[in-house]
Amino acid sequence: MEKELPQSLKKVAVFPEDPRYDKVRSNAYRVGRPKVVILAETDEQVRETINYTARIKQEQKEPFPLSVKCGGHGLSGTSVNDQGIVLDLSNMNQISVIDKEKGIVSIQAGALWGDVAVKLHADQLVISSGDHGDTGVGGLAVSGGMGTILRSFGLTIDKVIGATIITADGKRHVVDKDHEPDLFWGIRGGGGQFGVVTEFLFQADRATAMDSKISNPMIVQTINYSITDLFEFVQGWHQWFKNSSNKLTSILLLNKGPAETITVQTRNFWYGEETVEAKEVLERALQLGTVSATTEVLMNYVDFFPDEHARIEGKNTGFGKNTLVTHISQEMAAEIEKILEPSFVYGVELRALGGAVNERASDFNAWSFREAEIMIAFWVNKEHAAEAGQLFQPLQEFGQGVYGAYSSDTSQEENARVWPGQTAEKIRELKQKYDPANLFDQNRVL
Ligand SMILES: Cc1cc2nc3c(=O)[nH]c(=O)nc-3n(C[C@H](O)[C@H](O)[C@H](O)COP(=O)(O)OP(=O)(O)OC[C@H]3O[C@@H](n4cnc5c(N)ncnc54)[C@H](O)[C@@H]3O)c2cc1C
Repeated sequence: MEKELPQSLKKVAVFPEDPRYDKVRSNAYRVGRPKVVILAETDEQVRETINYTARIKQEQKEPFPLSVKCGGHGLSGTSVNDQGIVLDLSNMNQISVIDKEKGIVSIQAGALWGDVAVKLHADQLVISSGDHGDTGVGGLAVSGGMGTILRSFGLTIDKVIGATIITADGKRHVVDKDHEPDLFWGIRGGGGQFGVVTEFLFQADRATAMDSKISNPMIVQTINYSITDLFEFVQGWHQWFKNSSNKLTSILLLNKGPAETITVQTRNFWYGEETVEAKEVLERALQLGTVSATTEVLMNYVDFFPDEHARIEGKNTGFGKNTLVTHISQEMAAEIEKILEPSFVYGVELRALGGAVNERASDFNAWSFREAEIMIAFWVNKEHAAEAGQLFQPLQEFGQGVYGAYSSDTSQEENARVWPGQTAEKIRELKQKYDPANLFDQNRVL
């Protein structure tokens, strides 16, 4: 295989006998055994990898999957494979502020969100991303992006204003609202099924300046509750965040507690200064249930992301599913309680949506659930993935759909929930146009 590789790829190829192989073969969820990993540094090498894979796939009878890896944190685990090729973009990680005043930022797909926060902090800019600094720009910016400032600024894909993508025919497209707008629409929520995005252009938001020490303030409040009536608690929580400012985002983790109780670990994020309004809103959170512990810290947004750059070795044992809902009814609360029972369940997560997420039209990009107000996600040990599907089924019936990048289920049934109705039709047309032979068949494909 080494002989067949184009010359320009040989110098960035890592084969199994290479001492670096163990460091690059895996993602967070899976130890991969690919025939080769390409540590691409340029668009040209990405193009050559795509062309090379297409040729090999045509010539040989056995499968030769192509995986695309950026941060390696995709819940699907599909950014590495066995017996194929992994196109790893982690060395394409430049972050450049193009226009500080207008907040225009160009970011290569292999950068990590923690590094983006650090770089933008210097210019008092922010981009809404996830809650973990080691997740990659590539995976998140083609699929969604829900984090601590979600209700203030929306999803990560709502902030993409342009991109460079190399499609299955090896063609490089620079897309935005005026250039190939359909493809531009598709890569903002449609995942990696049309090609490899090498660079994104973002419209960053301006940080709320406070003083020189805390120039990009966010208040992080944690509360542990012990509750006995889940429906009543969730009703109160929903009304609380819905009727507060968009500056507030909230994430809950529910687990079974002692006796008949449920423990709730809460993280509330107020993006902005410690105003009277902020204090009142966070004070009200303490009235939502019986509080067993609480903390409140004013920090710079960037300090929320520790400088981890942790080694990725396929050790994450979680399997996640989710559903997006407009509210939580009594029946839904009862289903959540049932889900918390088995010992293989790691917990149920409720994420507050709404705010800026719901201010876009449903066809703004390829993420169409603009009416949803809560994401209900749950986590199990991946050895119990099959039971997880059954356990979650009744709750799924209540939902509008699924956030793809937060689900480990890559079945066709799940894909239909990720891209329903007209979104699915448009995605199929794009797939037919840009990847008719299905070269990008790892991860979700409709
Ligand atoms: C610990 C942890 C915390 C998380 N927290 C959040 C959170 O708060 N909010 C949230 O929204 N999500 C969160 N996620 C989910 C995660 O951010 C998404 O699954 C995201 O897709 C990961 O991106 P990545 O680049 O790290 O993934 P990778 O594993 O590198 O890629 C995942 C998939 O994305 C596609 N892809 C990646 N790069 C490209 C590219 N350049 N061009 C085309 N397709 C590409 C490929 O299909 C690939 O298989 C979390 C995941 C973990 C493990």
